[in-house]
Amino acid sequence: MKIYEKAPAKINLLLDVLRKREDGFHEVEMIMTMVDLADRLEMSELPRDTIIISSQVGYIPLDEKNLAFQAARLIKERYDVRKGVYIHLDKKIPVAAGLAGGSSDAAAALRGLNRLWGLGIPQDELCELGAELGSDVPFCVTGGTAIARGRGEKLEHIQPPPQCWVVLAKPPINVSTADVYGKLRANELHSHPSMAGMTEALAQGSFNEMCRQLGNVLETVTLKAYPEVLQLKESMLKLGADGVLMSGSGPTVFGLVSKQAKLARIYNGLRGFCKEVYVVRMLT
Ligand code: ATP
Repeated sequence: MKIYEKAPAKINLLLDVLRKREDGFHEVEMIMTMVDLADRLEMSELPRDTIIISSQVGYIPLDEKNLAFQAARLIKERYDVRKGVYIHLDKKIPVAAGLAGGSSDAAAALRGLNRLWGLGIPQDELCELGAELGSDVPFCVTGGTAIARGRGEKLEHIQPPPQCWVVLAKPPINVSTADVYGKLRANELHSHPSMAGMTEALAQGSFNEMCRQLGNVLETVTLKAYPEVLQLKESMLKLGADGVLMSGSGPTVFGLVSKQAKLARIYNGLRGFCKEVYVVRMLT
């Protein structure tokens, strides 16, 4: 039997860091939502008790460093599954981009193997397993739109954003999430985005207010280290995007656009100097 799972990319409409905790993690408050740019996982059972990962791209690890491998190993160990699995990752989400590609692959592997092996694990238990693999994995298990608290694993689902176009542009640099958090001085942050303002905008379904309330404190680190990310934000706004923000720890910048008529100008303008540009829809 062969099964397929989609692993969509996430963007952060809001990302705030409250403090550094004693365990080394940062206490965050985020609003995350999915966009229609997705990896696809193909999973099939193997006759031998082993985990094999393949991908059409050569720049991700295929051994135990791969998050989908780790997800398969965890579920096998925890539920005593003595069967093997072959997972092919059709990668579409740019890597180390702030779009949670690896986390979403891990979440899709958890969902898929639950089905493949008929384990009947409830979603909240899959989320707990996901939290062992990475802070963004629980959200990627559920999808939708959610406020994430703690280190990202405590989820509260909320009203999805009003439908719009999302332009994603990834400059040709890879940013390590750990580095960005390492350089962040949470106690020196002068301003924080408004969680109340953004949840209100979403509750009202107001596209314009959602654009005004976009905010990500990690921009203070990444934009300083990589001025090209700031330039990309400015260009997207100039080209006509209604709201612009860096996703996660970057370097991908996303622009929200309400009118389809504006898309060609934004896409063509960005493609003049940025090779990786995607025009997608919100997954609502
Ligand atoms: P996050 O915002 O959750 O940190 P990201 O989008 O910035 O995620 P990923 O694309 O998840 O970053 O990649 C981060 C690192 O994880 C990469 O350097 C890559 O080597 C490793 N990795 C492990 N598994 C995968 C996977 N399935 N797909 C992509 N990268 C993976």
